[in-house]
Amino acid sequence: MADNNPWTRAQKQLETAAKNFRIDPMLLARLQNPDRIVEVSVPLRMDDGNVIVYQGFRVQHNNIHGPYKGGLRYHPRVDMDEVKALSFWMTVKNAVIGVPFGGGKGGVNVDPKKLSEGELERLTREFARKLFPIIGPEVDVPAPDVNTNGKIMAWILDEYSKLAGKETLAVVTGKPLERGGSLGRPEATGLGGCYALLSILKMIGKKPEGLTVAIQGFGNVGSFLAEYLSEAGMKVVALSDSKGGIYVPAGIPSIHEVQKCKDKSGKISGCYCIGSVCDISNMKKLGGREISSEKILELPVDILVPAALENALTKENARRVKAGVILEMANGPTTAEADAIFKSKGVTVIPDVLANSGGVAVSYFEWYQNMHNESWGKYDVFKKLKEKMESACEKIHDISLRYKVPLREAAYVRALQSLSAKNATSKVAANKKRR
Ligand code: NAD
Repeated sequence: MADNNPWTRAQKQLETAAKNFRIDPMLLARLQNPDRIVEVSVPLRMDDGNVIVYQGFRVQHNNIHGPYKGGLRYHPRVDMDEVKALSFWMTVKNAVIGVPFGGGKGGVNVDPKKLSEGELERLTREFARKLFPIIGPEVDVPAPDVNTNGKIMAWILDEYSKLAGKETLAVVTGKPLERGGSLGRPEATGLGGCYALLSILKMIGKKPEGLTVAIQGFGNVGSFLAEYLSEAGMKVVALSDSKGGIYVPAGIPSIHEVQKCKDKSGKISGCYCIGSVCDISNMKKLGGREISSEKILELPVDILVPAALENALTKENARRVKAGVILEMANGPTTAEADAIFKSKGVTVIPDVLANSGGVAVSYFEWYQNMHNESWGKYDVFKKLKEKMESACEKIHDISLRYKVPLREAAYVRALQSLSAKNATSKVAANKKRR
């Protein structure tokens, strides 16, 4: 279905933005066509001796703003159109948040949950060797995404460094602290989303205290976000993961305990915590109920947060969404048709390219620290992150008022302004060199 094809949607978003802000046709053509698409085979010897060949991808969408930058995803549904769209959104996101990176994305079509630790490591090292010729600190800098993490980044760092003949910390971000990672990187996307939400709420005249929140997806992003939103006085009432979720209309008493419960049981379902005791038997006492990860999107809440995968909000369920504000923490969670429905209903959608850009902002801080042999404290990282998120929100909100367009269109206009300016200065520099 075209509406669900993320690459088609990305193209439409670009087209709409280019109507609002005219750009050089050469630049438009570059943004419509990724600079480079690389497909690699990743043969893996399984523990039982069999060999399975997976497909790996890296799309380098655009590097006008700086080295290609974006995550690597391990998921059985990874395909080229998805990776192309995600790499395009990285180009836009980096321009929106104002970091000197371009856009890239990659992945392997594997279900890592079905692999042993040894298989996962061998797969990653093989993938890293295949990526070696096209990545590097000043060329393309991968990071974690769905189902990948710091440990996987450290394996890539090892493999790259072996082939390069020297330790090259800045080749990936999202690394563990002891391997050159940055303080605050694990929290960055969730915390950045919290800063973005607080900024936009202020601009639309809403106080955060007591607002109810439902979050679909309780991984790295959703879990930190839930913590920060409750610290900011909001009432997180529902959480879900791929196996289902919990709904406590009076508010989930402790996100921290739910996290511990999920770590132990492998799922959120059943994690009704009173004090440190988490059990399904507490459900009635808390006035809660189990909820599916689809139904969570339709709850009567003030703020809805899709923080799982693409295409969660579609024309099928958009009309049943009751939230007045949607904070898109996942990449591409709203189809074009759902977006049009939200526009007609007057829902404030804080778009992915703004809402989740805290992750790449701190990835940039990590890369910068590696390149300059520095090590920043968490306080500095969070302070810089807050400044970046608030400044981007302000600019985008202003554009949205000036052009009378929703925040998503405004974010794209902001990205095109920034890319155009960078494109123009690099053209001038190239002409000077030629002379
Ligand atoms: P993760 O793998 O840590 O967590 C994903 C979560 O989504 C898990 O709880 C999983 O159970 C849940 N999930 C999967 N399918 C689901 C479904 N159908 N319904 C409900 N829940 C489902 O991944 P993450 O790093 O938290 O990333 C989540 C989203 O945020 C992705 O779209 C990713 O691209 C985006 N994102 C992540 C970062 C980052 O820094 N990690 C940065 C920007 C954007």
